[in-house]
Amino acid sequence: MAAHITVNGDRFVEMISERRIKTAVKRLARKIDRDHRGTVPVFIGILNGAFIFFADLIREVTIDCEVDFLKLSSYGDAKISSGNVRLLKDLNCQVEGRDIIIVEDIVDTGLSVEYIRHLIAPQNPRSLKVVTLLFKADSVKPGTHVDYIGFSIPSDFVIGYGLDYAQRDRNLKAVYRLHAKAPREKAGA
Ligand code: 5GP
Repeated sequence: MAAHITVNGDRFVEMISERRIKTAVKRLARKIDRDHRGTVPVFIGILNGAFIFFADLIREVTIDCEVDFLKLSSYGDAKISSGNVRLLKDLNCQVEGRDIIIVEDIVDTGLSVEYIRHLIAPQNPRSLKVVTLLFKADSVKPGTHVDYIGFSIPSDFVIGYGLDYAQRDRNLKAVYRLHAKAPREKAGA
């Protein structure tokens, strides 16, 4: 029976266990390793939500790599995307000629990923890929391209493993969904 937790008076139910997250992170790292053999990519973590996934992913990757971070505005204290993306911290690395791998915690509408693409592509990277742990297939704008997906999930609000509820609960080891709809999460590509 999946664990339930209560946060700010809302009930959440475990959606993806710590064990399944670990397996998915290893699978993603193996794919990234294979696709980037012989290169030294720059992993760019999107703060704040991706920090735990980012740290786990790059420790599973075995190729040589560099890291940097972008900080974007988040949901704030709400459970619904504001539809506005703002840059709060820019990159410190040189992008030109480099293989760039954007590391996202979750792709919901896809606005953040598209914003990042438009920020980075004009700086002429050699390649630009996106990896996300979670992908809300029913919410994402058509045409949003993501290269590596951990789990494709329904459009429920989720927390844990870096994802917050009003800035809290990022330190939960599993991913929990708001207890409203029946679960139909499936393993991603
Ligand atoms: P997008 O721009 O794709 O709509 O949303 C991306 C960002 O919105 C994520 O990086 C994350 O910060 C936030 N987000 C989207 N869905 C959720 C969710 O279910 N829970 C939480 N905590 N944040 C989310």
